[in-house]
Amino acid sequence: MSQPVLLNPGPVNVSAAVKRAIAGLDVCHREPEFFELQDRVRSGIVEVLGLDANRWASVLLSGSGTLAVEAMISSFVPNSPEKREGIIVVSNGVYGDRIAKIARAHDIHVVEVVSDPSEAPDLARVEEAIVAARNAGVVLSAIAAVHHETTTGLINPIAAIGDIAQKYHLAYLLDSVSGLAGESIDLEAAGVTAAACTANKCFEGLPGICFVVTRRQALEARAKDAPRSLYLHLPTYLQKQDAKDTPFTPAVQVLMALDVAIDELRKETVPARIERYRGYSKIVREGMARLELRLWLPEALRSNTITTIAMPAGMTYEVLHDAMRAAGFVIYAGQGDLRTRAFRIANMGQLDPLELERAVDVLARTIRAFNSSK
Ligand SMILES: *Cc1c(COP(=O)(O)O)cnc(C)c1O
Repeated sequence: MSQPVLLNPGPVNVSAAVKRAIAGLDVCHREPEFFELQDRVRSGIVEVLGLDANRWASVLLSGSGTLAVEAMISSFVPNSPEKREGIIVVSNGVYGDRIAKIARAHDIHVVEVVSDPSEAPDLARVEEAIVAARNAGVVLSAIAAVHHETTTGLINPIAAIGDIAQKYHLAYLLDSVSGLAGESIDLEAAGVTAAACTANKCFEGLPGICFVVTRRQALEARAKDAPRSLYLHLPTYLQKQDAKDTPFTPAVQVLMALDVAIDELRKETVPARIERYRGYSKIVREGMARLELRLWLPEALRSNTITTIAMPAGMTYEVLHDAMRAAGFVIYAGQGDLRTRAFRIANMGQLDPLELERAVDVLARTIRAFNSSK
């Protein structure tokens, strides 16, 4: 099998150097060489994102992006037995809804403000829900949102949600698993308390490591809470990793790959990576315009890295997927309610613009063949 071109939103195609990184030495995670690696990756994440290392820290976890989100939600909502602790979730897609499910699984009271996956959230409704919940005796301490809602490729109004967090004194927890390093965001200015991310999307590492970027003081303040989970308790990871330690066995080799990926990102810089991705998405979107396919989202809401496209009349995802796959491309189905109505082309990772042009051509040929066989 030859290397497929991954037009799915992670795991992405990575550089040869990132792939080679896992074939190095076998290392014990309780030896100094591991802790040097851990320190380098942790400070590298904070550095490439342009954050102040005195105020911000990153915490590494082994698992997929959802693990980072779950660790963040379960660790940041205070856990006091006598109070009904709650979180408000701004949700306009599968990942917003996943945050709500995570919180419920940890017995956190959830106020979910749901809006249409093709629209920006109605922030007046979010404020009303905060006031109503507080009037009903819910102790709301956090607001959670998704930066880049991968369901549709929609960028949520991160700074405006930050204003609400500040106004109502809420910790601001962000799922930026498909956002950081691929979309411009100023976590400091937006008032974000913590953001969850993963190695294998816009950071261009391999799957198996995820991380939470956090205001150090805010996380330290949660160390006194009774843990909702042993394995997901972020204050424990922060304290151990700060002390050149680790609570459990990390995905050592995947961390080695992330180390190389961060080095590459440092050289490229986040703004240049965003520009590269924007260039990729332009090829995809101009191609779809030539084919007269409708993009699902209005331009103002679109991310740099995912294009959701309305399914051509009569076509099924399976027909499109299989034809693209046979030509070497992996595309992605619509998620949730969009499954039969749309498909997605992501453009994260190490891609060749010529291959993206070829993907558009294959799509054009597939649609033409389908229409003439009707
Ligand atoms: C990819 C993604 C996740 C995590 O998915 P995993 O399969 O657990 O890595 C979470 N949130 C968003 C917005 C994502 O795009």
